[in-house]
Amino acid sequence: MKARLISLQVRRGKYGILKQASANLQEFPRIKGVEAGVWGREFMKLLIVEDELRMANLLRRGLSEEGHAVMCAYDGADGLELARQFEFDVILLDVMLPKMSGYDVAKKLRAEKNATPVLMLTAKDAVPDIVRGLDLGADDYMTKPFSFEELVARLRAVKRRAHVTPDPTLKVGDLVLDPASRDVYRGETRLTLTRTEYGLLECLMYRVGKVVPRHTLIESVWGMTREIGENTLDVFMHMLRKKVDGSGGERLIQTVRGVGYTIRAGNVL
Ligand code: CA
Repeated sequence: MKARLISLQVRRGKYGILKQASANLQEFPRIKGVEAGVWGREFMKLLIVEDELRMANLLRRGLSEEGHAVMCAYDGADGLELARQFEFDVILLDVMLPKMSGYDVAKKLRAEKNATPVLMLTAKDAVPDIVRGLDLGADDYMTKPFSFEELVARLRAVKRRAHVTPDPTLKVGDLVLDPASRDVYRGETRLTLTRTEYGLLECLMYRVGKVVPRHTLIESVWGMTREIGENTLDVFMHMLRKKVDGSGGERLIQTVRGVGYTIRAGNVL
């Protein structure tokens, strides 16, 4: 028995897209029953944003035949609109699009706190383009031409990763900080930190391996408006280090003279 397929084409134009979208609002929930595992397969709700009609149709047909629910948009603006209106498991996003580039669509979605996984499709395999896409919030990318099998595998991987809740604790070597409880452990030992010390450590651990400038540390703990003495930061850092690194073991907090501080383990930058 085959899952009910949805294959939608969104017409161009403001009213076309809204009409089509509202008509299909009812469709996705029904597909959910299928997702629950009736056929033991993992179905996805997908949005394809691709202006090359041949490519878009090929993808839509192929992915629908695999049992996924697929919507298509043919320019960046329509794609963004659909992404706002529906919950998708993954958005396949071409980079070079009319009206709004794939980069801008990804950027807008992330700015709006839309965390739907994005798989970028790009004809360019130049590293800067790929890096740019990933920087703007894409979860993965594929360069055209690609095989359909690889696309399906990547889609599953992107969706799977998105559903794994990241471990909220921060770790550097055997130093563990839990932002939820504000507990800090070095190995088995629980460290007792003052509010300021904790704030500084958290600021460093969120940026593990990176040099954190003095002003960033100061602003994160004392705020931008409060004036603090030139040495205040160093005094607090000294006390924090004594607690974190004072009892032997690897020294995790390091001074970067004239710039700020960094925390790292195993000399990994
Ligand atoms: Ca294109």
